[in-house]
Amino acid sequence: IIEISGLRKSFGSNTVLKDINLQVERGQVVALIGPSGSGKSTLLRCINLLSVPNGGRITVGEQSLEFNGRQTTLPKEKNLAKFRASTGMVFQHFNLFPHMTALQNVMEGPVTVLKTSKAEAEARARELLGKVGLSERADYYPDKLSGGQKQRVAIARALAMKPAVMLFDEATSALDPELVGEVLNVIKGLVKEGMTMILVTHEIAFAREVADQVIFMRDGVVAECGPPSIVIDNPRQESTRAFLGRFK
Ligand code: ATP
Ligand code: MG
Repeated sequence: IIEISGLRKSFGSNTVLKDINLQVERGQVVALIGPSGSGKSTLLRCINLLSVPNGGRITVGEQSLEFNGRQTTLPKEKNLAKFRASTGMVFQHFNLFPHMTALQNVMEGPVTVLKTSKAEAEARARELLGKVGLSERADYYPDKLSGGQKQRVAIARALAMKPAVMLFDEATSALDPELVGEVLNVIKGLVKEGMTMILVTHEIAFAREVADQVIFMRDGVVAECGPPSIVIDNPRQESTRAFLGRFK
């Protein structure tokens, strides 16, 4: 469902992604791990076009975009929105709209981008808030919610756009330890439903439990990839071993 080939991204003279190739099948869960600065967030941001790649090709479902050399032009407005909507992004710091209630946050995308009617968007938003266990909090503003609740609203908001793939960038890293579980449980629920996902995570035990494929990034390249039983439990490379050693 996702195919990335020859993906490159530089910031000035700093090449952050160097010829990334990866494939994600429908229903697969991919855990993206690796040291700080290795390019994990940049890769997710490129898939969602929050960052524009300098080279390579990204295919999500039926839609494919090619990036050439130094050119960083994006497709026309409408196609861009459509491409972006095919992936749902969840950030470390939630990024909820502070002036909107939980319900309004979840309704916003469908109403403004997908042109869903307000009634339909609201019904769907309530359903999604129920699914993440927040029916009772629909009318709360973000500053009245805990970190774990905010992140669950952010997940519901991403799901409201009916993405083909969900991208999570360290969704639990900013949370107090006692709130991590409730967010991981929501993610586990999505795994059960067969949602395709790419998770950047430092929760190595969680990655081992849910991932079909683990990708270890180092210095902008895919250093190692394969099932958790290999990449996590039996890494071939010394750098992977050294990185994982920190979590033991
Ligand atoms: P972490 O685990 O700390 O989140 P990461 O693997 O997500 O790290 P990235 O955030 O993708 O790493 O960053 C990779 C490199 O790209 C870093 O050297 C970073 O300084 C650089 N970088 C990221 N975003 C930008 C930007 N907007 N402008 C310039 N440099 C950037
Ligand atoms: Mg990051």
